[in-house]
Amino acid sequence: MVDYYDILGVTKSASKEEIKKAYRKLAHKYHPDKNQGDDERFKEINEAYQILADDKKRGEYDTYGRVFSENMADGGQPGMDFNDFNFGDWDFSGQGGSAFGGDISDIFENIFGGATTTKRKKRGRDISIDLEIPFEESIFGTERRIILSKIAVCDKCKGEGTEPGSDFKKCSSCEGTGRVHETKKSFFGTFTTARECSNCFGKGKIPDKKCSGCKGRGVFPKKEEVIIKIPAGIYDGEMIKLTGMGEAISSGIAGDLYIKVHVSQHQVFKREGGNLIMDMNIKMSDALLGAEKEIKTLDGKIKLKIPAGIDSGEILRIKGKGVPSQQARGDLMIKVFVRTPKHVSYKAKKLIEELKQEGV
Ligand SMILES: [Zn+2]
Ligand SMILES: [Zn+2]
Repeated sequence: MVDYYDILGVTKSASKEEIKKAYRKLAHKYHPDKNQGDDERFKEINEAYQILADDKKRGEYDTYGRVFSENMADGGQPGMDFNDFNFGDWDFSGQGGSAFGGDISDIFENIFGGATTTKRKKRGRDISIDLEIPFEESIFGTERRIILSKIAVCDKCKGEGTEPGSDFKKCSSCEGTGRVHETKKSFFGTFTTARECSNCFGKGKIPDKKCSGCKGRGVFPKKEEVIIKIPAGIYDGEMIKLTGMGEAISSGIAGDLYIKVHVSQHQVFKREGGNLIMDMNIKMSDALLGAEKEIKTLDGKIKLKIPAGIDSGEILRIKGKGVPSQQARGDLMIKVFVRTPKHVSYKAKKLIEELKQEGV
């Protein structure tokens, strides 16, 4: 697993200031223009900083590990989805200090934090699912189509809640504001809370003819096909995030879809960072004389030259047959084990004794 804290050399509880300091130091050291420059390292450091310097992304990382966003599969970097949350989330129209947002945190903010009201837009529920993929597909990347049962935008009215061709009129319950105000007395004094108007589902307007598909809600439970692009080189346990692919909600923004990817183990190959590791047994004669073996890599069969005199435990490296990445593919490392025969024929024994005479 990629550990962003490790990459920056800070602890999990590091402050923002510490993270910034560590980043500056390392970025300076490994900048590709410097003596000790290291392109790959520099990229890693930047990626780690992008995530850890951002409270939301850091929280997400702490909970889920590395999270890939949808544009990742095409070569983006984790967490770099700019359409994610920045501005659309907030509604600064306000209600001038007398009306408070619906949830308790808004109320406290208003009481203790002055009169500015920022009303958080409603969000649909996030959905999280698990997906198991074979080892090979985790190396080269893959795509999955899944069917999700969820609350989604109504196809018939495209979320408008109105029968096609029908007009709207202002909602009389909320005077077109989409919110209904209630005055409440409490320990802190009297204040007004606002909640979503149930007559118009917060839209402020009522269609002359409500959509027959969703009864005017604009959203509807249905099954939806989702295509999930899984980037090459994903680790077991990593997460893909599809912004806005969670549940839809009337007059709000859709939640997100989180896909936790589980990678099944391979019988032959193991992964160590960008490299693939495999074990191979060879005969003593092959170790002594050298040999050429055909082996199956994840890219297909290749001929492997075993040099004469190889020791058990030595590693043969095949460049560029490891895990693909944006920089360069890792290597395939073949750990060679020389097997000593447990039973030898009479003739073989004689020959080995001759070899012994020769000092082998
Ligand atoms: Zn209304
Ligand atoms: Zn509809």
